[in-house]
Amino acid sequence: MTAVTVRVPAKVNLQLSVGPRRDDGYHDLVNVFHAVSLFDEVTASVPVGVPPGAGPAVVSGTATVTVSVEGDSAGQVPLDGDNLAVRAALALAERAGRPVAVHLAVRKAIPVAGGMAGGSADAAAALVACDELWGLRLDRRELLDIGAGLGSDVPFALFGGTAVGTGRGERLAPVPVGGEFHWVFALADGGLSTPAVYGECDRLRESTGEPVAWPRADEALMAALAAGDAKALGVALVNDLQPAALMLRPSLERTLAAGREHGALGALVSGSGPTCAFLAESPAHAADLAAALRDADVCRATVTAHGPVPGAEIVAG
Ligand code: ATP
Repeated sequence: MTAVTVRVPAKVNLQLSVGPRRDDGYHDLVNVFHAVSLFDEVTASVPVGVPPGAGPAVVSGTATVTVSVEGDSAGQVPLDGDNLAVRAALALAERAGRPVAVHLAVRKAIPVAGGMAGGSADAAAALVACDELWGLRLDRRELLDIGAGLGSDVPFALFGGTAVGTGRGERLAPVPVGGEFHWVFALADGGLSTPAVYGECDRLRESTGEPVAWPRADEALMAALAAGDAKALGVALVNDLQPAALMLRPSLERTLAAGREHGALGALVSGSGPTCAFLAESPAHAADLAAALRDADVCRATVTAHGPVPGAEIVAG
């Protein structure tokens, strides 16, 4: 085999409850992840010469990795050892027990620095693709462990579906879902830095001085998911990072308000933002809502998607 292509979904957080800041700087979270049909693709191949568009070769031990990126906001993605897909390939290469060389061609549809875990998704896709290309056949548990070492959103991109993450978000349990949900995502110009949004969240909390509750999975949200009840889910959506994201990007208030005015069942900032997520009643409602958001000129672009969908999976090779 000379090439393997893996498709990997974006995530939206249906509940993101942020506990008190821990001594190590992280926060304990309750994070209900939901994988949606907005996909990046990563093709891992045995390099022949210098692949077109590739960044400099990243060498670690006996592994050599190059990466190229095309698609939405590709210019904002690093082409060196900072690329999360490259880091994933290097982490897996340690298990290969022999010299390996791979080129990773990333095709992006997930907005960069958009709060939809696109970099983590690419890392998960690179793990699955290289595992297959190198014939390692690690079980999912092992890939999840390697993924957790790369970032707290990586395990969910392997897992897919809908899941509740605890700890830093990396300890996952599946959540039963009784139906399909339809979404509109309003993409913003530029990204928001996840550490900056957490920092702003801490600052806002310190300024009010109110005690921060220990996060728990929301029962109404779990019941809405189990019943496949979009109306109830829309009401239960919650993101503790939203006030901080709005403080750093006040224009998102208008985006959220426009979605609510046009009948969204729920509207929230996705993760650390600045992408905004809107829950619709049906695919047709999602298409109408997307058109209304574009007409209102409150975002760079819109995409519609449904969830839940599976995590990283091989589509060719
Ligand atoms: P999260 O929701 O997990 O906090 P995000 O969706 O807001 O993340 P990403 O798209 O993962 O953000 O990008 C965060 C940063 O990571 C970007 O600024 C980018 O420079 C860097 N990065 C590294 N590798 C990648 C990659 N393969 N795709 C996108 N960004 C990457």
